[in-house]
Amino acid sequence: MNAAPADQIRLLDVQALDVRLQQLAHKRKSLPEHAEIESLAKDLTQLRDLLVAAQTEESDCGREQTKSEQDVDLVRQRAARDQQRLDSGAASPRDLENLQREIVSLAKRQGDLEEIVLEVMERRESAQERVAELTERVSAVQAKTDDATARRDAAQGELDAESASVTKERELVAGSVPADLLKLYEKLREQQGGVGAARLYQRKCEGCHIELNITELNDVRAAARDAVVRCENCRRILVRTSESGL
Ligand SMILES: [Zn+2]
Repeated sequence: MNAAPADQIRLLDVQALDVRLQQLAHKRKSLPEHAEIESLAKDLTQLRDLLVAAQTEESDCGREQTKSEQDVDLVRQRAARDQQRLDSGAASPRDLENLQREIVSLAKRQGDLEEIVLEVMERRESAQERVAELTERVSAVQAKTDDATARRDAAQGELDAESASVTKERELVAGSVPADLLKLYEKLREQQGGVGAARLYQRKCEGCHIELNITELNDVRAAARDAVVRCENCRRILVRTSESGL
């Protein structure tokens, strides 16, 4: 394949722009904010699960408290009725004795139930404290997430803008390179990890960084100026410049 030396040198410009685009894409993918956001999302999921558990316990305790308070009320009402009957004196001595015994036992029962109410209220209070604490932690992590997301979006925005401008420039330069040369370059670039054309600099291929041996150098020297030379080692397009050391 043949191509004017100036076109070959322009191919190096295309290569440089392609490398820049690759770097920008890599930078976009490896922004530290990605890992930060991911780890915050994990924290947030965990905290939300804990919050839901605490809220559930709080409402369970609430129901339990209502139930226990109703139990206390029932006992209290029954004791009041007994007391009324006792006070009315309209009962046989045996009944009165029974009523007195029942009032004593209801008072004990009421005391036990009131203790249950207190215990439930304590559990409910600590559940409420946990709900408050976890709510605060969820919103703190959410704020951190929002902050990291904003930083990520800003960084991506800058990189995208730069990529767009490099892409435009690349299109422009590539448009001035002969189609067959560009096609060979694209094919080699795909096969050779993103580098399809390399400068021959001081007898070294800048694609594989290996110095050409004397036979190879003589072949390059003997090649016509517009011949498209390839590196014997990596097969990339080898572009000669005034600094090639020929
Ligand atoms: Zn090479």
